[in-house]
Amino acid sequence: MSEDYPQPTARSEPAGCPDRGMANAVWETIKDEMRSVIGDDEYGIWLQPLQSAHIKDDVLSIDIPDMVFYQGFTNNHLNTLEQCKNSLGFNDLHLKLTIASQEDKDDDGSKDTASRGQSFSRSLSEQGSLNAVYTFDNFVRGPSNQFALASCLNISENPGLNYNPLFIYGHTGLGKTHLLNAVGNKVRKSRQDAVVTYISSERFMNEMIYCLRFNKMWDFRQKYRHCDVFLVDDIQFISGKKATQEEFFHTFNSLYEAKKQIVLTSDQYPQDIPDIEDRLRNRFRWGLIADIQPPDAEHRIAILFDKAEQLGLSLRREVAEYIATHASRNVRELEGALHRIAAFSALQGRPMDIDTTRDIFRNVFDEPQTEISVDAILKTVAEHFKLRPNDLKSKKRSRIFSVPRQIAMYLSRTVGNASFPEIGAKFGGKDHTTVIYACRKIEANRNDDLDLQTNLETLERLLGRRI
Ligand code: ADP
Ligand code: MG
Repeated sequence: MSEDYPQPTARSEPAGCPDRGMANAVWETIKDEMRSVIGDDEYGIWLQPLQSAHIKDDVLSIDIPDMVFYQGFTNNHLNTLEQCKNSLGFNDLHLKLTIASQEDKDDDGSKDTASRGQSFSRSLSEQGSLNAVYTFDNFVRGPSNQFALASCLNISENPGLNYNPLFIYGHTGLGKTHLLNAVGNKVRKSRQDAVVTYISSERFMNEMIYCLRFNKMWDFRQKYRHCDVFLVDDIQFISGKKATQEEFFHTFNSLYEAKKQIVLTSDQYPQDIPDIEDRLRNRFRWGLIADIQPPDAEHRIAILFDKAEQLGLSLRREVAEYIATHASRNVRELEGALHRIAAFSALQGRPMDIDTTRDIFRNVFDEPQTEISVDAILKTVAEHFKLRPNDLKSKKRSRIFSVPRQIAMYLSRTVGNASFPEIGAKFGGKDHTTVIYACRKIEANRNDDLDLQTNLETLERLLGRRI
């Protein structure tokens, strides 16, 4: 442990002190930055569990679970955390890691390796437990997520009955983990005796490796083959992991046969997850597949207002609109922007108005990313291919129309951020599955087809955004 690192101390500050809201906003901003630097996986293990922070004078204290965690954290991430904090301009704030419970405070770190291993594995499974913060009540419904939401609500009311497994897929930051936890929390509330198990597939793998090593596979199987609701986050991580897939396959089967509810999330569609056995891929499609798309502009604003209310912030309409236009890819970005404004305006004592907001995001959003409408995309693509927008909306099947049409649909999705049904409607009332097909086809061919690549690059440049 380096001398420069802050040492853990017991928490002295009473909970609920007035700076609590600000401390959390600052801490969340730093966490967001950490996530972008170290990636989602590491973030999930080391930062996600650190939910509470306090500010006193110029010290930001962060609650950490125990000494084992402390050592792992300082070895792996403390340096980066310092850097992230400073890169955000919080140089004057000093970090302090605080062990929250008395029991852990007394731990002087001299435990033998075996008991450390045990407590590590315990903390692993505790970290893997449900997050009570994510509920259906604070999940904001919109066109892009209503199907996934309805499916989740349905299975929480009738676990194991209608759709098994439920497979939720969507890009990062769109609410998959939130929904998965909401299912778990709801089932737990309405059926107190139900065993609900939430785990990321990565943790499933780590626990399995640990149990193999310490001859605890019996316990492992007891734990995962005897639950009523089995929630597995980010199943795509088992890609390429043969032994994990094998174990998961048997876990899946025994739960499925016992009619226990299985819910899986993934950032890819089952067919697109590389390196998984077909028998698993097939099972993922046995039940219902629900996707989540990025929220449209109106939905983004609704989410911002909801989040602001939860944070106790009063958000002005123009500020919400500014954030919604600039942080447009996913909900995590929206939340991040909100945390940032709250943290900066509190620290600098400035009102949360549009000027403050512009100042805060001057460097973050230096290229103005105004929303590009589907109509503008239709026009640009048509001109590029010397066609008329109506040709792209038509049903003409010849390649000279169909390829530009698919390109325009793809760009409406990637550059215009429009939802599949929205695009379908704009393209002469086509079904959303046609749009999904077009987008996937272009995506799949873009690396191999040089003509396509050149056309896309030109068009993306014309539309003002290389993505
Ligand atoms: P994913 O697992 O798809 O990467 P998360 O579930 O972690 O995404 O969501 C990222 C953040 O956005 C979380 O803080 C979550 O609460 C929030 N979020 C996503 N969708 C919504 C929504 N529709 N309403 C409210 N919050 C949302
Ligand atoms: Mg997730």
